[in-house]
Amino acid sequence: MIYDFHTHTTLSDGELSPIELIRRAVVAGYAAVGITDHSGVGSLSRFGQELAQDCGLARDHWDIMALPGVELTHVPASGVAEAARAAKEAGLWLVVVHGETITEPVEEGTNLAAVSCSDVDVLAHPGLITAEEAELAARNDVFLEISAKPSHCIANGHVARMARLTGARVILNSDNHELDFLAEEQARRIVLAAGLEDSEVEEVLRENPQLLLERILADRVPRRR
Ligand SMILES: [Zn+2]
Ligand SMILES: [Zn+2]
Repeated sequence: MIYDFHTHTTLSDGELSPIELIRRAVVAGYAAVGITDHSGVGSLSRFGQELAQDCGLARDHWDIMALPGVELTHVPASGVAEAARAAKEAGLWLVVVHGETITEPVEEGTNLAAVSCSDVDVLAHPGLITAEEAELAARNDVFLEISAKPSHCIANGHVARMARLTGARVILNSDNHELDFLAEEQARRIVLAAGLEDSEVEEVLRENPQLLLERILADRVPRRR
């Protein structure tokens, strides 16, 4: 069983349509895949409508939990909470925030806004996340991402260290924009390359994704505000 909560399709800058991406995830043996295209607030209702249909079709006919989601990308930090709420209201089950990767001019404060918001599920590639931010992530159940994407993975070791220090939960995502999903062995190696131990691989690749998935599905009944 393998999971991916961060992928891109032709809804933004990915190569495959949503249903084609899901098909490839099925063939690669994934138990769940989240489709999380780049958006501010303007595309949320369109994403919600289109992904509800394609993810629903895939779930009805294939053995995969296809999740309609979004990656709130370069949204003003002080607007993250509002955008995350709007995403959930648009029917997007999974809200990822494009965190403060050190390779892009993401607004300072984005990590803090994401880990403080109960509508955010995953803080992607959080770069030089602070211990205080990781602590908030742990408290508010926001999952921190270790990234397989070359431009964002530079800080994986730091993210893993902050998570270990604070008890924040870590997952590995591909941030896939192309054709192929990560094979399980490669996923394992990326976790180890972030400085985590063999004994932690299971937690990052399976236990934490399962917790996140359970939470997303439970949230279909709206969460407390
Ligand atoms: Zn991103
Ligand atoms: Zn992404």
